[in-house]
Amino acid sequence: MKHPAYEQLRQVSPIAGVVLENNPSAMTLDGTNSWVLRAEGHGGGIVVDPGYDDREHLNALLGVAGDVELVLLTHHHGDHSEGAAWFAEQVGAPVRAFEPSLCRDAEPLTDGERLSAGGLELSVLHTPGHTADSVCFVIDGEQPHVLTGDTVLGSGTTVLDDLGDYLDTLAELADVPSGSLGLPGHGPELPDLLVTVKEYREHREQRLDQVRAALAELGPDATARQIVELVYADVDPVLWGPAEASVRAQLDYLRRRG
Ligand SMILES: [Zn+2]
Repeated sequence: MKHPAYEQLRQVSPIAGVVLENNPSAMTLDGTNSWVLRAEGHGGGIVVDPGYDDREHLNALLGVAGDVELVLLTHHHGDHSEGAAWFAEQVGAPVRAFEPSLCRDAEPLTDGERLSAGGLELSVLHTPGHTADSVCFVIDGEQPHVLTGDTVLGSGTTVLDDLGDYLDTLAELADVPSGSLGLPGHGPELPDLLVTVKEYREHREQRLDQVRAALAELGPDATARQIVELVYADVDPVLWGPAEASVRAQLDYLRRRG
């Protein structure tokens, strides 16, 4: 069934609207959120994460985005970045990302950098964990907005390249002002990003505590599989495979950092 919201601009605040790409899946939830940012009354806007090189979506985005001054990418995954070069060429705007190879006619983003476009001031936060090149964009104002890419999703938890980096990133995001509107790469917007970040931190800590407890019971040399069989004893063994991958990451983290 076609989602009623696909390929239309849905305004979520005076400065932020979203076009939902028609690419739903287990990884992308409802689909990819392509964000359109613009100060009220300003001519040119910013597009964050144009999505796959999916011309139906990119043309819909062209139709509603108006003039575009800058294309930003939250990270390199194809469901966010693949269509950026084509889209940017159509609108005549540069592409900026943390990963140098994704940039067009512009320098890579750096941590803490201030950007000025779309009549808005944004700051760049390097937030590795989901991927090494993940960034968030913070827009200050009466209600701060934070574009989180896949670092914080609108629902569920995110897949990680590096748990240690990710826990550091969550600690850094715990400094965003309370009441900040979270604009994720997938799923619905988050009315108070800080609340979600706290939930994410608690969830990750609980999982680490489970592994610590299992190690106390099984001994320090226990394998990921042994821990899964203990911790997930009451869970369908079909789910043990994916659980084993995340337990392995938790074990690596605990053995490296205690
Ligand atoms: Zn991703």
